[in-house]
Amino acid sequence: MPEPSDLSRELAQLIEEEGSISIERFMGAANKHYYATRDAIGAAGDFITAPEVSQMFGEIIGLALADVWQRAGKPDDAVLVELGPGRGTLADDMLRAMKVAGLTPPVHFVETSPLLRAKQAELFPDATWHETIQTLPHDRPLLIVANEFFDALPIHQLVMTFNGWRERVVRNGMDGFEPAPGEPTKYGEVPMHLRHADPGGIIESCPTARRLMRALARRLHDQGGVLLAIDYGHYGGAHGDTLQAVHAHAYADPFARPGTSDLTAHVDFSALAGSARAAGTHVAGPVEQGQWLVALGLSDRAAALSRNAPYRAGEIGQAYRRLTHPEEMGQLFKVMAVTGRNWPQPAGF
Ligand code: SAH
Repeated sequence: MPEPSDLSRELAQLIEEEGSISIERFMGAANKHYYATRDAIGAAGDFITAPEVSQMFGEIIGLALADVWQRAGKPDDAVLVELGPGRGTLADDMLRAMKVAGLTPPVHFVETSPLLRAKQAELFPDATWHETIQTLPHDRPLLIVANEFFDALPIHQLVMTFNGWRERVVRNGMDGFEPAPGEPTKYGEVPMHLRHADPGGIIESCPTARRLMRALARRLHDQGGVLLAIDYGHYGGAHGDTLQAVHAHAYADPFARPGTSDLTAHVDFSALAGSARAAGTHVAGPVEQGQWLVALGLSDRAAALSRNAPYRAGEIGQAYRRLTHPEEMGQLFKVMAVTGRNWPQPAGF
């Protein structure tokens, strides 16, 4: 058995003291450690994201943002904000496309990982980094992009037992960390139609994502701008346990060796849309990523790139398939737009 990491020891100690910790706390601590210690994205890492599949992804998003910006009257103080920019690839591709359309905004990154910040700084030495969204500029329109960001935020889970719904927690088991039912849930936390589910049933929510969306939507409402959230997930309905761990491009046990695999959960777009609407903003979508990219001209872009570099046509075709095919990222991944007051809606919805 491998030696337990510092993080595993810390968490085991914490659980020893408190009896258990919430899934939310476990996931938050595991991911914080994970992103701070690994450059995990890409072929050599643990998982590949759409911007790492092809430059076309970021170019289409860049053009979509440039288009709304133009229709909003080209405000010259608008800034580009990316939440969780990873290796900086998406921002690089977006800005190249935006420039062609006459948009060259200052770049603001919301990123907690020092390691990824350093990676991003190689491409963007002049960017401004933020630990949270609170320090983003307060007095100008924000063009905000979040790709595979919301799925990494810690979720809260409830599990049905023979004694009713309980919070799902993490305990120290015989073979390491294990999920277990914790305290009974507060009344009202479970939707009416799920009050009598079968034992073992799980429901989840992401309070952090909802809070964040509400705060971002308030900003868009007051300052103008748009937000594009792209992630894997669903719109409404109960989806059970979607917590998953990925390590070296394969699924892993989310409770084994925290901090060494990427923990994510399906994004509940209906919850995010609700938070955005509550702040008075307009929501479009979500629509499936494949549909959205094609509606915005991905086919033409792929054809143009292949014409310019015929020797890469096979690779470009594969990337196109990966981004759009229903069995790949095309259907599970979705795009949702939030539009600030007096701003037009982005295209493709
Ligand atoms: N958007 C990139 C990276 C996705 S991975 C891409 O598509 O390739 C998730 C990113 O979000 C990483 O950069 C990670 O460090 C960052 N991140 C995760 N939780 C965060 C938080 N709470 N605040 C800010 N950034 C966070």
